[in-house]
Amino acid sequence: MTVIEASGVLEKTALETYVPLAKPSLVGLSREELAKRLGGIGVAEKQQKMRVQQLWHWMYVRGARSFAEMSNVSKDMRAQLEQYFTVDRPEVVTEQISNDGTRKWLLRLPGDGVGRAHEVECVYIPETDRGTLCVSSQVGCTLNCSFCHTGTQRLVRNLTAGEILGQVMVARDRLGDWVDRETPNGNRLVTNIVMMGMGEPLYNFDAVRDALLIVSDGEGIGISRRRITLSTSGVVPNIARTGDEIGVMLAISLHAVRDELRDELVPLNRKYPIRELLDACRAYPGSSNSRRITFEYVMLKGVNDSLDDARLLVKLLKGIPAKINLIPFNPWPGSKYECSDWEQIEKFSEYVFNAGYSSPVRTPRGRDILAACGQLKSETEKLSARERQALRAMAMTD
Ligand code: SAH
Ligand code: SF4
Repeated sequence: MTVIEASGVLEKTALETYVPLAKPSLVGLSREELAKRLGGIGVAEKQQKMRVQQLWHWMYVRGARSFAEMSNVSKDMRAQLEQYFTVDRPEVVTEQISNDGTRKWLLRLPGDGVGRAHEVECVYIPETDRGTLCVSSQVGCTLNCSFCHTGTQRLVRNLTAGEILGQVMVARDRLGDWVDRETPNGNRLVTNIVMMGMGEPLYNFDAVRDALLIVSDGEGIGISRRRITLSTSGVVPNIARTGDEIGVMLAISLHAVRDELRDELVPLNRKYPIRELLDACRAYPGSSNSRRITFEYVMLKGVNDSLDDARLLVKLLKGIPAKINLIPFNPWPGSKYECSDWEQIEKFSEYVFNAGYSSPVRTPRGRDILAACGQLKSETEKLSARERQALRAMAMTD
């Protein structure tokens, strides 16, 4: 009996029978890995480069969802690929569209073999001059920032590169945003990526790097690194690597200017305190006045929103090419904070602006579908109908 190991299609069980496993998806593999997989199913070495190029184009320029569509690949080759692989992305379980046009997809991922399938959320935010996709890096998050809903989710697993990249592909699928899209000027809908969904991207470094390298690859999806922002709560050892190995824009979830308070809001601060974090930012490869680091600051009423805080913030950021992004706190059921008053947010913003920093206030988007920052949480049992209702009511009265 033959066992084809390279593709993982057949597996020997304890009962000496062979059961088919789900075919693996080629989405998310580097060119080298793709060539290796092709070698594994018998594609001759001298053909591999050309085949990889074809696959790359069909997957990442055209958004092909099956090998059958790949018309310049020979029929035999298509059949062979079909036998062993797929070009599947995560399965869309639900799509919600907010009254402000924001879309949220709940995506199902293969489980860990013992439990049920895992779920993750991805959000698309259209604006007049751009369309931003907020991508998740983990199911849940191992950190537990006290103001973040995702941090309360128990189930945690890292996403694979294919699952991270797959979110971008699902968004292009659902929005009809692949290269053949017929628009008057051919403008794309997904123009920017932010790694600000569920999870801490720098605790899943390799997969996030591999996915973003494909997203920014000029012969594929082709979203420039300047239009990709990775947000971290401050995993200091991986900050320099982000600049060196991925080269995308950096955002830091600062949220407090004193260690005592940051220890409470972002508990990772106990491991990597503010000084160390800011030193890593000062040394961030590739930052400059035209490539500033964004400092995110959630506005919590009576907690971190005084003008004293604003003053200290400006002082701390001295010497770092920075911009400050003020985020009105988005409430969730059971959260113990309130959003600062608008007046206070404006005062804070004005102070920071007058000190020479751009300080836009992030408009909350998609609150009615729980798609705003920090509201993502995907466990199916996460909210009772009652909690959902309470949350909607909160969103409406804000
Ligand atoms: N784990 C990463 C990226 C995901 S969170 C990080 O923490 O940076 C994306 C942003 O939303 C972070 O700045 C996070 O602090 C912020 N956020 C989390 N919960 C929030 C809430 N309830 N209201 C507003 N912003 C929140
Ligand atoms: Fe995790 Fe970021 Fe939420 Fe903190 S804010 S719990 S790091 S997702």
